[in-house]
Amino acid sequence: MEYTEKVLAHFANPRNVGEIADADGVGSIGSKECGDMIRVWIKVDKWRLADVRYKVFGCPAAIACCSMMTELAIGRRLDEACELTDAKVAEALGGLPAHK
Ligand SMILES: [Zn+2]
Repeated sequence: MEYTEKVLAHFANPRNVGEIADADGVGSIGSKECGDMIRVWIKVDKWRLADVRYKVFGCPAAIACCSMMTELAIGRRLDEACELTDAKVAEALGGLPAHK
């Protein structure tokens, strides 16, 4: 499977890139398979994700997933955001190659 149009669109024009100076939470994760490194900042207001930003070093799939993740996460209540899985982000992108 090749990258979908949506993956390529988010890779070419990633949404919500950056940092949040007064973030309420910061987290990092990496993938040994791809060498991807991701750092995510969140801002919470009244139990909702008011803002989500990230910096990513990685393959087109990693960049597109970060971008789509912010579009799905911003505005969600924290309990709803906890239901966001890798599979849901991939599905929103129209799927990813199996090894990604
Ligand atoms: Zn990757």
